[in-house]
Order: sequence, then structure tokens, then C-alpha cells
Amino acid sequence: LFESVELAPRDPILGLVEQYNADTRANKVNLGVGVYYDNEGRIPLLECVSQAEIAHIEAHAARGYLPIEGIPGYNKGAQTLLLGKDSPLLASGRVLTAQALGGTGALKIGADFLKQLLPTSKVVISDPSWENHRALFERAGFTVETYSYYDAATRGLNFDGMLAALGSLPEQTIVILHACCHNPTGVDPTFEQWEKIAEVVKNKNLVPFLDIAYQGFGDGIEEDAAVVRLFAQQDITMLISSSFSKSFSLYGERVGALTLITSSNEERGRVLSQLKRVIRTNYSNPPTHGGTVVSTVLNTPELYTLWTNELAAMRERIRNMRVQLVEKLKAHGVTQNFDFMLAQRGMFSYSGLTKDQVDRLRDEHGVYAVSSGRICVAALNDRNIDYVAEAIAKVLA
Ligand code: PMP
Repeated sequence: LFESVELAPRDPILGLVEQYNADTRANKVNLGVGVYYDNEGRIPLLECVSQAEIAHIEAHAARGYLPIEGIPGYNKGAQTLLLGKDSPLLASGRVLTAQALGGTGALKIGADFLKQLLPTSKVVISDPSWENHRALFERAGFTVETYSYYDAATRGLNFDGMLAALGSLPEQTIVILHACCHNPTGVDPTFEQWEKIAEVVKNKNLVPFLDIAYQGFGDGIEEDAAVVRLFAQQDITMLISSSFSKSFSLYGERVGALTLITSSNEERGRVLSQLKRVIRTNYSNPPTHGGTVVSTVLNTPELYTLWTNELAAMRERIRNMRVQLVEKLKAHGVTQNFDFMLAQRGMFSYSGLTKDQVDRLRDEHGVYAVSSGRICVAALNDRNIDYVAEAIAKVLA
């Protein structure tokens, strides 16, 4: 049966982790990851999560099946984070949210549902994008193309190219948009640019699928949802995948959500009934633990405040690492201007390093980055940042 199965190519990022783990150099640094590490180089267990978990364990609750669409308080909490607590949409009965297996799971049930609904539509993703976007939508049966996004010359956004590309798409093309903290580049459109993007999406009758995996890592929880809220205000029908993997530091719990903004409460009911069939035939219903923890934090005022403070601390630490890296590169004699790193948002930075330079960083210095030059700023800390700046300076010299 399995004789003809070919070996699949190695996942480029997971392959990098394997290589890093096998490296015996003591001063090795892994900047290839997509995970937030604290200043000690550890994945944090947030205090708000810890308190919610203790409360949950002490309650000795049985673990029955959850509803297909998940925990109601979790879904309500996810909607509120996206739309803001005063959004009239929340009371309108037009918004539906399903707890999902991380942001990936949200994208996947959204993709399967869209394939049923728009079988002949194409999907477009940014050039470049999170590497799983293409694979995931292709697996769901779509043809996936790209729209212009990153401009290597300016280390910024190719806004004119992006707008022109979106403007030339056929109606009902599904457009994947990173709502904040673009992965892998760290380059986001400004709010004014988003207003123009929303206009094209609306006029051209495109289907936006907003992916928000780093809410709170850019400028703040509310600020980072500005795009979602802008699209909502423009009355654009859309899908939103959100992930709490990073914002709650709960990667392995698979906490995410798919939110759909429909046109009416009646429509919402029909859409939900179909989405439930997609979920039921994939994994039946979501797991309890992570969802319970997140729901408890989002719905308990003291824990919510604790969470916003802990998230702010993660955001500020990353910003501080950006500032320090730019300063230290200068101090190590780098003459190229790296100030673009300060304008980038979220955990990642397209550093502008070439593949050759990335190879040298790894081979000569034990500093691991993705071959595209993407580095995870959240993996820098007070102990390794000097070494990393020095290593980068050496490969640039
Ligand atoms: N979308 C983007 C843009 C991401 O970067 C990621 C995670 N790296 C995801 C979705 C998936 O998130 P999760 O780990 O919650 O599945």
C-alpha cells in the first residue's frame, strides 16, 4: 500500500530547528523560530494562564464534549477582542465565532467552508506570506496566487503594487490579509493605506479573509484590531482567523477562533449550520483545556487586566530588542541603515540579509535565521543580542 509513497520535502522552519538542536556550540542562537521567548530565553507561562488553570483544576470539572462550535464564553471573548466591546455588531446577531484548533485550524475550517461556497474562486496571498497559507489553501482545493506586498528595495510595503494587484482581481477572489504584524516581513500598511485597501475590496467585491495571529504584539490589543474594525464599519462581509497561541503563550493548546461577519441574524444561522458540518466532519468538536483557560481569562476582569499587562510587557520587550539591535549593529561598525527594523511590527523582521549571509551566520557563528532573512526578534535577549549583532556585523563586512 505505501510502497509508492514519496518522501515529502522537509518543512523549512522545522528542519532548521532540527539542525539547531544538533548544533553543539554553546553560544548558538535560534532566530528562526516563530515563538516569543522571555529575556531568559524561555517560553513564558503567563501568570493569568497559571491562575486560570489552577482555578480550573480545583473545580474538578468533568470533560464532556464541547458544542461543535466550542465554548460560548470563549467565542464571545474572541469576538469582543476583534470588534471592541462597544461594537454594535456584537449585539446585532450577525457575527458568529467558532473555537478552532489554533489560527491554523481556523484558516482550515474557513478554507473548507469557502471551497464549498465558492468552488471556482482563487485565493491570493501576500508576496511573501506565512509559508503555510499557500499549502493550506491548496490542500483545501484552491489555486493560490500572490499579490505584491514587500518591496525589498525600500524594505517596506509596495503599496501601489499591492493596490493595483488587488484592483485587477476577478470578483469573489478570496484575499488573505494579515491584519497586523505581517509574518514574515514585519511590514504593515498604515491605517490610511488600509482604508484604500478596504475600498478596493468593497468595490471589487472581493472576499477578505483576515488573519490575525499577533493581536497585541504590534501597538496594543485595540490598536492591532483597527483593520478588522475598519472592514466591519465598511459593512464588508468577511472571515477572520484569530490565534491566541502567541498572545497567551499557549502554543500547544491550539487556541484560535474563526469569526464570520454575516449580513443578518437569519443568515448567520444558516452559515453556522454549514460551518458546524465542516467542523463535525474534521474533528467533531474542539478540546476543552486551552479554551477554558482563555475563556476564563477573557471573562474575569482581574485576569483580563493581568493578561493585558503581561501582553504589553511582551510587546515592549520585543520593541526594546529592535531598538537595541539597531544600536548594537551601529556600535559594531555596520554602516547600512537598519532603522527599518524600528518601523516593523510584531515578532518578525525581514532583516534584508541574503541567503548567503544567513548561511554564514549559521555556519560560522551558530546564529540560525530563515533563508529569506527573516529573524524572530522575540528570540533576542540581553544575553545573546550582543553576540547576534556582532555576528551580523561580521557577515555584512
Ligand atoms: N497565521 C499566521 C500569519 C501565523 O504566523 C501563524 C503562526 N505562526 C498562524 C496563522 C497559525 O497560528 P497557530 O499556531 O495558532 O495555528
